[in-house]
Amino acid sequence: MLPKIKFLPLGPIKMVAVLQEIAINIEKTYRLPCEICDPLPIPELAYDPARDQYNSKIILESLNLESQEPIKILAITEVDLFIPIMKYVFGLSIIGGRSAVISLYRMYADGASNGILIQRAIKTAIHELAHTFGMKHCKVKRCVMFPSVSVKDTDEKDSDFCINCSNILDWLIKKFRLSEI
Ligand SMILES: [Zn+2]
Ligand SMILES: [Zn+2]
Repeated sequence: MLPKIKFLPLGPIKMVAVLQEIAINIEKTYRLPCEICDPLPIPELAYDPARDQYNSKIILESLNLESQEPIKILAITEVDLFIPIMKYVFGLSIIGGRSAVISLYRMYADGASNGILIQRAIKTAIHELAHTFGMKHCKVKRCVMFPSVSVKDTDEKDSDFCINCSNILDWLIKKFRLSEI
């Protein structure tokens, strides 16, 4: 099977354009096919009634149950995500893992225009997927691997990698492509 990225909506996504824009940019950045899958429901187990949010770690675990195919899974949702030590997260992934999840919830929160929202979503998707390939955070503020604590951080960075990260990513993508079976 050829290596690819599966792009999986969890629950309804209001803005269809955001899915297409993310998919186009992922294909361009990772030079791998990105397939938009039919939506799946958000795993109910991930819902925390005390916080009225969804635990992103539980969502990631549910995505990792799939087979050993050479794929990465990027899930996208509109519900608010958290990890226990933080109030909220824009997305979550494990370095070198199979899956990543991102949420549009906080990106909409300040009433940003559709154009800004799409840029935020693209940067977050590229950032979280890069972690699954093995990339770590970067100190260069404009690099897409700079960690975002607020949407301001996301707005101020590019959707591209700095030269150093770009070289590392090239090597990691080549390694992933070789995992074709
Ligand atoms: Zn990160
Ligand atoms: Zn960098």
